Formats: sequence, C-alpha cells, structure tokens
Amino acid sequence: MSEQRTWVIDCLQKVGEEVLLKGWVHVRRNMGKLIFIDLRDRSGVVQVVCLPNHKEVLAEADKLRPEFVVAIRGKVNARQEKQVNTDLATGTVEIEALEVTILNSAETTPFEVTGDSKTVNEELRMEYRYVDLRTQRMQRNIELRHNVNRAIREYFTANGFWEIETPVISKSTPEGARDFLVPSRKFNGQFYALPQSPQQYKQLLMVGGIERYFQIAKCFRDEETRKDRQPEFTQLDMEMSFVEREDVMALIETMLIQMVQSLTPEKKIQQQPFPRMTYADAMNNYGTDRPDLRKNKNDPDEFAFCWVIDFPFFEKTEDGGWTFTHNPFSAAQPEHREWLMTKEHIGEILTSQYDVVLNGYEIGGGSIRNHQAEALNRVFEIMGYPEEKIQEQFGHMMKAFSFGAPPHGGIALGIDRIVSIFAGEYESIREVIAFPKTAEGRDLLMNGPSAVDQQQLNELGIAIKPKK
Ligand code: ASP
Repeated sequence: MSEQRTWVIDCLQKVGEEVLLKGWVHVRRNMGKLIFIDLRDRSGVVQVVCLPNHKEVLAEADKLRPEFVVAIRGKVNARQEKQVNTDLATGTVEIEALEVTILNSAETTPFEVTGDSKTVNEELRMEYRYVDLRTQRMQRNIELRHNVNRAIREYFTANGFWEIETPVISKSTPEGARDFLVPSRKFNGQFYALPQSPQQYKQLLMVGGIERYFQIAKCFRDEETRKDRQPEFTQLDMEMSFVEREDVMALIETMLIQMVQSLTPEKKIQQQPFPRMTYADAMNNYGTDRPDLRKNKNDPDEFAFCWVIDFPFFEKTEDGGWTFTHNPFSAAQPEHREWLMTKEHIGEILTSQYDVVLNGYEIGGGSIRNHQAEALNRVFEIMGYPEEKIQEQFGHMMKAFSFGAPPHGGIALGIDRIVSIFAGEYESIREVIAFPKTAEGRDLLMNGPSAVDQQQLNELGIAIKPKK
C-alpha cells in the first residue's frame, strides 16, 4: 500500500502536521529565492512554498511547469492573519515543501486550466476534453451530476424501487425518432436497434411482477442535428404498478423538491405544489407547452416548475392519417377510453401523458399505460398499421399483456437537462456531460464515427454504397 496521501482541502485540519500531497501544478511563481506552487487536486488548490533553506526542494521545483504531476511532502503552516487568502478555500494555510517529486511532465496545454474554459473554442475543448475536465467549473458540474445520480438512487431505493438494467442492443422501439442500428454478424442482414428509451422493457418488468423499477438509462436517438440534443443521452427512467397519474406525479414532485433542497439549497422554488396547466391553456396563454413561469428571469436562483397535462393523444399526419403525439403506449384519459376503443372523436381523445417543465425546459414526461392488449391494439389501428405489422412489431407486448398485466405507469426525466439547469449552465447540456458529442454527433476526442476495416464489413455482410 502506498503511503497515506492527504487531499488538498484536508490540509485545513492538519496545521502543524506533515502531509503528503499529490496533484497537478496549477501555477508556479518563481520569485528567485523562493518558489511558490499552487498545487491542485480534485478537492481544490493549496499554496506550497519552497524555501531557500531546502536546496534540493528548490532545485526540483525549478523544473516544474504548469500541469506537471507531483508529489509534495510538506508541513502545514497556519498563515498569519495578513497573509490569509480569502479567495482560496485553503487560504488560511500554506505548505512548506520538504520534498518535491515529479511524477510526470506535461506539454503546454492547448488552453489554460486555471480559468473558465467557456471562452475557449468548444471544438478544441472537446478534442482535449481531459484537459477541460480539469477546470474548476467542469469539475463542479461533473460532481453535481454525480450527486444528482446519487440522490436519485437514494430516493428510489427508499421508496421501494429496484434498479434494473435493460438491454442496450435490442429491437427497434418507436418513440418518434430514428433508431441507431447495430448490424448482427451472426444473423447477416439483421439488425439490433439501440433503445430510444427502455419503454417496452420497463412495461414488461411490470408484467413480470417487479412493481417498482428505476434505472439511470442511456437512450439513443438518431435525430437530425438539433442545437442542444445529443445522439445519446441519459434518462432517469421509472415505472410502477397499481398507480394512477396522481401517484407518479406526486412521487416525482417530492423527489425534485428534495433534490433542489439538498443539492442546490440557494435555489428558491416559486410555487409548491407545482402548478398544473392543461396543454390547451399552455398553448393559449403562453404559445408553448413548455411555459417559463419565472417571475424574474434574471434571477439565477429562481426555479419555476410546472406540470402540463391533458395533451391530445393523436395528431394528423401530412398524408391525412393519425400519429401519436407523445407515446403510443399511453392510455387515454379514463373518460375517453371508450372513444379510443370505438375509434371515435380521435382528435379529441386526451392522453394520460404528463410533462414536467422547469424554467421553460421540458425536463421529463410520462403516462399511465394501456395494460390491456385490445386498447394498445386500437392505438396502432388508429395510426393505420395493418394487423400483420402490429403483430410483427408489438406482438410480444400484446402477448405479455394477455398474461395478467397490472395497471401501470411511469415517467422519464432528462438527467442532462436537469443537471445543466441546476448548474446554471443554460446554454448547453454539453457542459454537464463528461464526453459530449458535437451538434452533428461527432466525437472529436475519439474521432468517431469512423470507417472500419473491409474485413469487418465482410463479416457483417455489408457493402458501403457511396452517398449520391
Ligand atoms: N419512454 C418515454 C420517453 O422516453 C417516457 C415515459 O413515458 O416513461 O419519453
């Protein structure tokens, strides 16, 4: 085992003691007789001083450049009152270096780690994401994301939910976007699809008697370039049995309130319980189904949540047919169930869908589902699917429902968006994703997507046809 290393921030509790620190050279100031090193680790920055009476230390410190990786043994001294640096969390102490060991050198980084990388070209930041991740702002964002995930796990565990992983290579499921496909080598000409969401699996878990499921799930949608969308994104996905709309909404509302209180206590929630609005009222009064209800939009600490409900189930397609507005697996509102079953008043049928909105962003949506095969069948019939297509695409769901499916419902929340709003990073969810892709879906760090070997293509039985 290596010798106990002290985090920079813990030096505050070790005045008078000798410590071993490990980290990166944040800044080095050579004053001739003295050398100051601002040493950084994940916990913060502390000032280290190399004094003339430690010759070897000074000689080694002279070789240091920004971002060199070092181990420094030193004594923690309290600073005199006049020397206290109030800008630094460790500003009341200073480390007197007794030994400096270089663990690795570093090239000059393409941009500075000491500042806020927001002003740096974003493509450069993505290419050198490991450098960008060292900046204080990115470290705080990534830490907040961890804390959001942790709060979710604690909350759902406390409420009797099980965290269950559902498959990532699976079959195409319709959520209104294009699928990412994965060619099968063993079954030439056949494809897996990456999930647009775990929707079908979570419903099948309810048929399986799991009753309460959640997952922090990766979802994949091959959409046209959209400013602040990522081809892969993360959802808090949950589903529960024997519930009505109110139960799911109450559970999620409490979670969001608790999360704000524990993770970002400086934020003020404008109205509790969250106001509710029908889709029709939202469109009439705000011209959008994602109304921003903040009273003072310049106040970074104002949080205005709301629920939007009573969405139309179907909308007209360009060719005069019908398609779903949100989720084909949703149930109609109880009072419109009859219309769904008899395929009447189709444009007036309301879905049980509920969306939750924060400061003008849709952060999640869900619904109570059709747990009876005939009702689900009706949805696809209204959308004009021939019986064979319904069977081929959703036969497994109908079959499952015929074996005693309980009433159930759930929701999915966008974790990237929630963390970005909590962090005050309104411009882009990329600021809270460790390794994001560009708006065009390129990974500039790994350089993906990329061409593959001819042999791999042969194995898959794939020939590339040049795009016209
Ligand atoms: N699967 C839905 C979505 O991804 C969410 C849900 O209805 O639970 O939007």
